Amino acid sequence: MAEMWAKKHPIVSGVVIAALGSMVFEEPRAFVASFFSGIWSLVIRGYQWVISDVSIPWWLFIILCLLSAIVVIQIGYHLLQKEEAPDFHEYRADFINGVKWRWGWHGRQISNLTAYCPNCDYQLTYINPDRWSDDIGTSFYCDRCSSVISKIKGGGLDYALGVVRREIDRKVRNQLYPKNKNDKR
Ligand SMILES: [Zn+2]
Repeated sequence: MAEMWAKKHPIVSGVVIAALGSMVFEEPRAFVASFFSGIWSLVIRGYQWVISDVSIPWWLFIILCLLSAIVVIQIGYHLLQKEEAPDFHEYRADFINGVKWRWGWHGRQISNLTAYCPNCDYQLTYINPDRWSDDIGTSFYCDRCSSVISKIKGGGLDYALGVVRREIDRKVRNQLYPKNKNDKR
């Protein structure tokens, strides 16, 4: 590959080989010393340039100050906006499939989705689906009321929680949740 390239560009490859050759055959210590002294003189010149005075008209100075103030205010505004939680983070409870559900938020993700009895507010337990039944589904049972409160058809607990998650997601996307903070369910 490299040989083909050298054949196609004989002048360029000749110059590169000559430059590399001169670097190798030069006294290596002298080469390293001149390299570092070159970098050091660049640093010194840069420092002298940075600390030297510059004269600009007052109107330009004022405009630059105003522009920097606008940039700082904009950055601060965006940072503050990001910290403000979205509206739907207030939506943490609802009645879905005859069960009272409570949950939290991690960004847009629902966390700690838990079922409660709509009659006595006791935390419900769940009964895994009978795999041999045609009517497969997960039942939610209240130990205080001694009754099955609800059954979500289709699969095990993960599936049932998925059904509830998708319903919460639907309400959030369509703005169907209570917006008023006092309208707690
Ligand atoms: Zn109950």
